[in-house]
Amino acid sequence: MEYTEEHYQRLLGLKDSWAVQSVNLSVENRKVSIEVQYESVEASCSKYAKIYKIYDHQEKRSWRHLDPLQFVTELHSTTPRINCTQHGILNIKVLWAEKHSPLTRMALT
Ligand SMILES: [Zn+2]
Repeated sequence: MEYTEEHYQRLLGLKDSWAVQSVNLSVENRKVSIEVQYESVEASCSKYAKIYKIYDHQEKRSWRHLDPLQFVTELHSTTPRINCTQHGILNIKVLWAEKHSPLTRMALT
C-alpha cells in the first residue's frame, strides 16, 4: 500500500477487511475520489454474529465525506452481501455509513 492509500485508510478508520484501493486527487476540480474495497471472502451477518461467504456485491455506490480543505471528498465502493440462513440476503455493515460513524452518511447514489 502506498503512502496516499495508507493515509486515507487511517483517516477513514477503515478496518475489518475494508481497504482503500486508490485515491484520485484532482486539484483542478478540487475533488478527492477514494475507491474502497472489501477484501475478505467472508463476512458476518449484521443481525447475528455468524460468518458467511460473500454471496455477491451490490452495484458501486458513492458517499460524500466531510470535505477537508474545501476539497469535495467522495468515497466509492460496492457493498458485499451475505446469504444468512436466518435473515436471508443482507448487505454487510458499511463502516462509514454506520449510525455513530464520524463520517457523513450522505449517499450520493
Ligand atoms: Zn443473519
